[in-house]
Amino acid sequence: MDFIRYAERSASLVNAELPDAAALRAHLADRVWLHRSVVDEDVRRLQQFQAELRGVFEASAADDVPLVVRSLNDLLARHPVTPMISDHDPDNLHMHVANRAASVAELLVGEALMGLANLVCDLGATRLGTCSETRCDNVFVDTSPNQSRRYCSDRCSSRANVAAFRARQRAAAAS
Ligand SMILES: [Zn+2]
Ligand SMILES: [Zn+2]
Repeated sequence: MDFIRYAERSASLVNAELPDAAALRAHLADRVWLHRSVVDEDVRRLQQFQAELRGVFEASAADDVPLVVRSLNDLLARHPVTPMISDHDPDNLHMHVANRAASVAELLVGEALMGLANLVCDLGATRLGTCSETRCDNVFVDTSPNQSRRYCSDRCSSRANVAAFRARQRAAAAS
């Protein structure tokens, strides 16, 4: 179980537009084996979970450590995870977050919560953020060594740089 990868997937889950089952399959483009299990109920549950999980990222972005811990513990209590040892590769026994009977929603929720809980315990509770680009409300996981990430993507970072440059030009022209 690679918890940083799961934590990063939880950010892309919050950022995903999930109006219907087709959108959820598109979100799972790199995991085609899950596509046939997707049902409308997964979409409904994940839409609700997106809103719940966004609160954890916002609490972390505000450096509110007790709120991050409380919110994640609440979510873990409400969405119990049933992990199992997988032997699909007998030479490499490893943990899967959910058992075989889990729905797609249960699997994604379990991965997100285990990823974030482990990230918080290993790297601290202030590693989650919301994008600083004013027109963007995406969230991200900050794994940079000096914890300096401010934008969800290179695209938002360069948009913000361009906006700051134009603002400096305007200020220079006005003075
Ligand atoms: Zn596996
Ligand atoms: Zn952004």
